[in-house]
Amino acid sequence: MSAPEHARRAQLSENLARVRAEIADGCAAAGRDPAEVTLVAVTKTYPASDVCHLVALGVTDVGENRDQEAAPKAAEVAAAGAAPRWHFVGQLQRNKCASVVGYADVVHSVDSVRLADALGRAAGRHRDTDLDVFVQISLDGDPTRGGAVAPPGYAPGVSGPTAEPDRDLERVAAAVAAGERLRLRGVMAVAPLGWPPARAFTLLADIAARLRVGYPTAHAVSAGMSGDLRDALAHGATHVRIGSALLGNRPPLR
Ligand SMILES: *Cc1c(COP(=O)(O)O)cnc(C)c1O
Repeated sequence: MSAPEHARRAQLSENLARVRAEIADGCAAAGRDPAEVTLVAVTKTYPASDVCHLVALGVTDVGENRDQEAAPKAAEVAAAGAAPRWHFVGQLQRNKCASVVGYADVVHSVDSVRLADALGRAAGRHRDTDLDVFVQISLDGDPTRGGAVAPPGYAPGVSGPTAEPDRDLERVAAAVAAGERLRLRGVMAVAPLGWPPARAFTLLADIAARLRVGYPTAHAVSAGMSGDLRDALAHGATHVRIGSALLGNRPPLR
């Protein structure tokens, strides 16, 4: 390994130790077993070599948010002999489903019936194992930010307008459950801007519990990023999606 790659691996190792310690602390504070929490290293904007370092350091799950970046990176990582589980965590366009089901094992961001249907068709055609699916929830109902919307009264704290049918959580969940080669694993959310994370993740936990009444296998909760990891663990997150705390601050998006 070249000297710069050596230094990069050492840096990632240190960051990983810090994040793992934070997960252990957060779990201890919540009386939870860290073994029930999956760390998803979000490697967007960082090169395949970083993914390979993380895998060598014991990371098993990596996340990406854009197919244009993820597809070649996944191919490069595979060619280098590393085999992490790939999680797609970003907004997904229906015309990218065929590509994404080719490398991803988990999609965290299904938020409409139309997308669930397209993903099921792609997975049925291109996969021989199930794709794990999280339904992404909009906690504040903001239509510009993506996410399925729980119907009014669905769980404590859920109010607001009825969603358009395509983004109604119950319909989206039913479409995923009916999809070929799709397995409904649970829910995902990003805390809305300006909300205390505890409020967001309490609401998400209540929505997750209500969804489990109809779909007992939907027990996973994807919540928590670098800035709100602890609050997410306090409210039952099973998958935390950590980018900057592991890899460093990303350049701002243009
Ligand atoms: C980038 C991203 C993350 C990681 O965010 P950090 O704040 O860098 O930890 C998590 N989830 C999604 C959906 C993302 O796009």
